[in-house]
Amino acid sequence: MNLILFGAPGAGKGTQTGSLIETYHIPAIATGDILRAQRRAGSALGEQVKGYMDRGELVPDTLMIDIIRTRLQEPDARNGFILDGFPRTVAQAEALDAMLDQLGRRVDAVIYLRVSRQVLIDRLSHRYCCRTCGAVYTFTPQQARDLPRCTTDGGELYQRPDDRPEIVAHRIDVFLTHTAPLIDYYSAQHKLENIDGQMSVDEVRADITRRLSALRKGAGSR
Ligand SMILES: [Zn+2]
Repeated sequence: MNLILFGAPGAGKGTQTGSLIETYHIPAIATGDILRAQRRAGSALGEQVKGYMDRGELVPDTLMIDIIRTRLQEPDARNGFILDGFPRTVAQAEALDAMLDQLGRRVDAVIYLRVSRQVLIDRLSHRYCCRTCGAVYTFTPQQARDLPRCTTDGGELYQRPDDRPEIVAHRIDVFLTHTAPLIDYYSAQHKLENIDGQMSVDEVRADITRRLSALRKGAGSR
């Protein structure tokens, strides 16, 4: 299964990625993580990445594609991958398709965890963090009015600056603006699995599994 996972901040991507890794025994490839890994490894690619990062510049698409190509050829990615954080533009999606084509592979499905803007804002703006252990809690507005302590260590809970409502709304809008053309791109390829991300974690997981199983069954005849 070669998968791409899309979801706004607060859509539940992290949780669902964990289930996909377990179910399909394929690695999640988060581009931010592999950039840091390449940089640490000191490879030729890593040296190039370091140059861009040190100058505070974006890593160009061609280099990102080379890095992903290298990562996909590692043994753990032989049976598939879950790409997270890439592509972010249609140009990147086209470059990714071309590169996979050269490897004789292709994107099987693009999972889009669809959650309304208001629900995303509600979820993220009621997220609290323990000052001691960093555990993350989500409360309803009622629960947050009389904020409890961390259940593990009794630490004080606080809201990260990133999770304040006005910042959250901006992060979500940036995601929605950038991702909309990609949703159209993969939709035109009939690869988009539009998942209702507002169901419970278990329901979302079940829906993803059901759709991917249907794809696998249908793969022989397509
Ligand atoms: Zn704690």
